[in-house]
Amino acid sequence: NFISAVVPPGEIGIKFEDIGALEDVKTALHELAILPMKRPELFSHGNLLRPCKGILLFGPPGTGKTLLAKALASEAGANFISITGSTLTSKWFGDAEKLTKALFSFASKLAPVIVFVDEVDSLLGARGGGFEHEATRRMRNEFMAAWDGLRSKDSQRILILGATNRPFDLDDAVIRRLPRRIYVDLPDADNRLKILKIFLAKENIDHDFDTRALANATEGYSGSDLKNLCIAAAYRPVQELLDEEKKGKKHDKTPALRPLNLDDFIQSK
Ligand code: ATP
Repeated sequence: NFISAVVPPGEIGIKFEDIGALEDVKTALHELAILPMKRPELFSHGNLLRPCKGILLFGPPGTGKTLLAKALASEAGANFISITGSTLTSKWFGDAEKLTKALFSFASKLAPVIVFVDEVDSLLGARGGGFEHEATRRMRNEFMAAWDGLRSKDSQRILILGATNRPFDLDDAVIRRLPRRIYVDLPDADNRLKILKIFLAKENIDHDFDTRALANATEGYSGSDLKNLCIAAAYRPVQELLDEEKKGKKHDKTPALRPLNLDDFIQSK
C-alpha cells in the first residue's frame, strides 16, 4: 500500500487550536481551503473566486507542516490521505499509471478530501536531466496528468496539499499546479512561547517557572525541537526517581514526581 494514512475528519484529533503560533498560515488555509470546502456555494460564481486545486507548504523541517495539513482536514470536515513522495518513487515506480489512477479514484470516492503529499519534491521534483530515473519521470507525469484531469466539480472537494523543505527543487510545471505557496517559518521568541505553553499546559511545573525565559533561550528551535526538549526535560524527574529506587529506596505507593524547573530544560538542551 503506497498510502501512508487515511483518516476520517472525526478521527484526526488535531485542530488549529492545538498548533501554537502560525496564525497567518492558519488564516490563509482557512480562506484558501476550509471555506471553499465548507461553503462551496460562495465560490461557484464568476471566475475570480475559484477554489485552488493545490497548495504548497514550505519551510524548515519540524515547523508543523504535517500538523497543519491534518488540522486543516479536520477543520474542513474532510478525509485525510497522506502519501510520501520518496516512498512512491522508490517502492512503487514500476506501475506509475496504475498507481496514480488508483490514488485519484480513491480520493474522488473519499471527497471532500485533503491529499497530503509530504516530500513533494521527491515525487514532483525538477526534471533530473539524463540522470533521472525513467520511472520517476513517468510517475511525475502520470501524477500531474491525473491532477489536471480532476473535473472542476471534484476540484472543489479534492485538495492536493504538498509539503517540502526544498522548494527550489520543484520545477515550473509543479509550481504552476501549486498556485498558493505558504511559508511555514521557524518560530520567533513570542511564537516559541505560544508553542511551549501548549506543550506545558498539562505538566506539573514549578510555580515560578519562567516560560518566557525558556522561549528566549531556544533561538533557532523548531516546534518539533521544542517538543523534543520538553519530553527530555519531563524525563529528568522520572530518571531521578528511578536512580533513587536503584539505590534501594522503597516507596509504599508510587510517589509524585517533583515539578519541572528551568534547569531541567537547560540541562536537556
Ligand atoms: P518535516 O518537514 O520534517 O516533515 P513538519 O514541518 O511536517 O516536518 P511536523 O511533522 O508537523 O513538522 O511537526 C513535528 C512535530 O512537532 C509535531 O508532531 C508536533 O508535535 C510538533 N510541532 C511542530 N510545530 C508545532 C506547533 N507550531 N505547535 C505545536 N506543535 C508543533
